[in-house]
Amino acid sequence: MPGAVIVGMQWGDEGKGRFTDYLAKEAALCVRYQGGHNAGHTIIVDGEVFKLQLVPSGVLYPWVTPVIGNGVVVDPAVLIEELDMLERRGVDTRRIRLSGNAHLIMPYHQELDRVSERYLGKNKLGTTKRGIGPAYGDKAWRVGLRVQDLLDPKIFRAKLDLALREKNGVLTKVYNRLPLDANEITDRYMSYVERLAPLIDDTVHLVHEALDAQQWVLFEGAQATFLDLDHGTYPYVTSSNPIAGGVCTGAGVGPRAIERIVGIVKAYTTRVGSGPFPTELPEGDPVGDLLVERGGEFGTNTGRRRRTGWLDLVMLRHAVRLNTATELAVTKLDVLSPFDEIKVCVAYEGDDGTRYEHVPYHQSVLHHVRPVYETLPGWGSDIEAVARLEDLPGAARDYVRYVEEFAGVPVTFVSVGPARDQTVVLPRAA
Ligand code: GDP
Repeated sequence: MPGAVIVGMQWGDEGKGRFTDYLAKEAALCVRYQGGHNAGHTIIVDGEVFKLQLVPSGVLYPWVTPVIGNGVVVDPAVLIEELDMLERRGVDTRRIRLSGNAHLIMPYHQELDRVSERYLGKNKLGTTKRGIGPAYGDKAWRVGLRVQDLLDPKIFRAKLDLALREKNGVLTKVYNRLPLDANEITDRYMSYVERLAPLIDDTVHLVHEALDAQQWVLFEGAQATFLDLDHGTYPYVTSSNPIAGGVCTGAGVGPRAIERIVGIVKAYTTRVGSGPFPTELPEGDPVGDLLVERGGEFGTNTGRRRRTGWLDLVMLRHAVRLNTATELAVTKLDVLSPFDEIKVCVAYEGDDGTRYEHVPYHQSVLHHVRPVYETLPGWGSDIEAVARLEDLPGAARDYVRYVEEFAGVPVTFVSVGPARDQTVVLPRAA
């Protein structure tokens, strides 16, 4: 049963979009299994840039069925906007399937996301304020509204009234905001039904039909391993499970349905928002500035400058474990071309001199560790036009080899630029 997962091995923005796009062409289904419209994939096809937030990357291939799985939280207005954008650019969106079990992001989720971040002050999480966390919170609290509720206006209204009783209490009494109006929300959400109803489907059934027919199903993660709700740097994490295990709950398959787990790792590290980051370079550091400049390290959705640093192999090895990654794709190797020397973090040192070969479970320790670096030689030439492994400069190949030996799984792809054809496929790729 050939299922494959694409998962980010760091804090996101590794370039998952381009690899999902690359691998999707072999797939029958391309399934998003978690997250919301805080993802922001960028895919460049023939010089045309597509920014996708909710719709799986496979949408750009007419033969792929893009699936928004039950584990995703959906803002219907955003989804419709994205459908319109794709239609305007000639992409047929009628193939998209939307799980009836996916949860809806409601206006009070967005409002609560905004006001609670403000209340947290300097402890704020740095969320994208799109209501994603509160929607997952309501799912766990069992007061969420699901996509299928759109198809039954009476149920929708009953659930909304129940939810609003508590939400409006919190908004008005805790946060001093105006209450939200049930009629207005119902009218607005019912106006989405005509457009979305034809897409709503039993996506678990679809996934299993494809697996039973021995077709490839590609599961597309958003965010990344260290933003995982359970395994990331809590509380500076996302509110779902991007790790490969999240596929099981977020798409409705067992672990044995997954054969290939491709971990996407950027050749250096970036992070958006707050939270520990052992290899972070101080602001104003020329290496960090060059990484930001060459890598275009600004948030796809937010425009925020990303925090940057050298590649952290301690985290990478942990990410390989957390996902049982079967292989790695190293992205943005071209960004490192100008450096004479390239550092990689191979261990951490604690305040008391303790050396850590693994990511310490206690976050107070992780907050204070210093990276122990190994220095590798740079290659000093542009690699954007390289198409085959043997054409990469020796030092670039050595860098890739060093990464795979440390991580303990093969590197099967290296990307040397943002375009579809700037992908070096290593001979051992399946
Ligand atoms: P995701 O959040 O992991 O899906 O990251 P994206 O797919 O949005 O990619 C982040 C950015 O990196 C986008 O602007 C891509 O076009 C760009 N990108 C991806 N791969 C490469 C690469 O190999 N080299 C360079 N220079 N840019 C890349």
